[in-house]
Amino acid sequence: MTFAQRMSRLGTETAFEVLARARVLEAQGKSVIHLEIGEPDFDTPRFIRTAAARALEDGFTHYGPSAGLPEFRQTIAEIWRAERNIPCDLDNVVVTPGAKPIMFFAMLALVEEGDEVLYPDPGFPIYESVAQFINARAVPYLLRESNQFDLDLKDLESKITPRTKLLVLNSPHNPTGAVLRPETVEGLAAIARKHSFHILSDEIYARVLYSGRHLSIASLPGMAERTIVLDGFSKTYSMTGWRLGFGIMSKPLAVHVARLMTNSNSCTATFTQKAGQVALTGPQDEIMAMVREFRARRDLIVAGLNALPGIRCGMPNGAFYVFPNITGTGMKSGELAKLLLEEAGVAGLSGTAFGAGGEGYLRFSYANSQENIKKALAAMGEFLSVRVR
Ligand code: PLP
Repeated sequence: MTFAQRMSRLGTETAFEVLARARVLEAQGKSVIHLEIGEPDFDTPRFIRTAAARALEDGFTHYGPSAGLPEFRQTIAEIWRAERNIPCDLDNVVVTPGAKPIMFFAMLALVEEGDEVLYPDPGFPIYESVAQFINARAVPYLLRESNQFDLDLKDLESKITPRTKLLVLNSPHNPTGAVLRPETVEGLAAIARKHSFHILSDEIYARVLYSGRHLSIASLPGMAERTIVLDGFSKTYSMTGWRLGFGIMSKPLAVHVARLMTNSNSCTATFTQKAGQVALTGPQDEIMAMVREFRARRDLIVAGLNALPGIRCGMPNGAFYVFPNITGTGMKSGELAKLLLEEAGVAGLSGTAFGAGGEGYLRFSYANSQENIKKALAAMGEFLSVRVR
């Protein structure tokens, strides 16, 4: 069988590969602590599960509109307008099975072959993968620890050309947990207006924020029409397996993205949308409790990592990831990640799973219990105390 050339340009997410290797080790009787996969370990809150069961009973088992149920899109628009100051109504919202399709659809609808897509390095690997898949020129912009992994606007502006079509922004950020400073968001908006490019603003971790308020670039003057906000239920409501996300974008773009939905998925499952609506309008105390627990875990893992030989770790302000600098161990990221899994039973990811800019770092997801985080820290401490002098 010969495959289309474009398949050679499609990347992947290493987290799933590391998880598969960890499962093999577990099948051999080894114990592994999972700090690799980016999914909350909590159950989906009961009131949301109950709403889905009720929707199934009520007959929400058929096709729905490609763009999503109007009442659900209306609720999303109302909340994002009120809480994030994004001017929008239901015609700006397209619901998708998970948030990931918004990356694909936004790029398919906006970016021509040869256009340039700027994306963060380190960053979520699917941005680069999709840009390359559609034959765009994927141009990384570096996020540096010396700048608390914030975006360097001068450096970024030097990468802009007349072919720059889209910039991918992600805050709170995977893998570093960094949150962009408001001045950076404002400065970037000015640059986008000046050079007339679009922004894909991945805000999937916006509610997993430990201080301050989330500032969406789409809320700044003149930015709503050139921004696609990507968001969803996977992280905030612990609903990764449900596949429920959405994008907020200009109305003409929403028409194209809905047509891409018609051509690919037909629609998002309607009973999940009914549950999503209840998630948004129901009590948010469980969600706040999850964020409080994430904060306690963050404090635990950051302090623990900083006590390990050869490792230094900043304090992230959002998401549920830490991105420790491991250069003091004398090992490369890929090598250390592999050794920690095979010898210490701790599954984490090499920083290079997020781009070349991740060399010198590991990513740990602290979506695991405090007890397991303590065990992982102890196992890593034991391993490193022998290896690092
Ligand atoms: N964006 C970022 C930055 C992510 O880390 C993830 C999931 O890991 C997604 C988007 C995808 O979200 P979903 O599971 O809703 O497709």
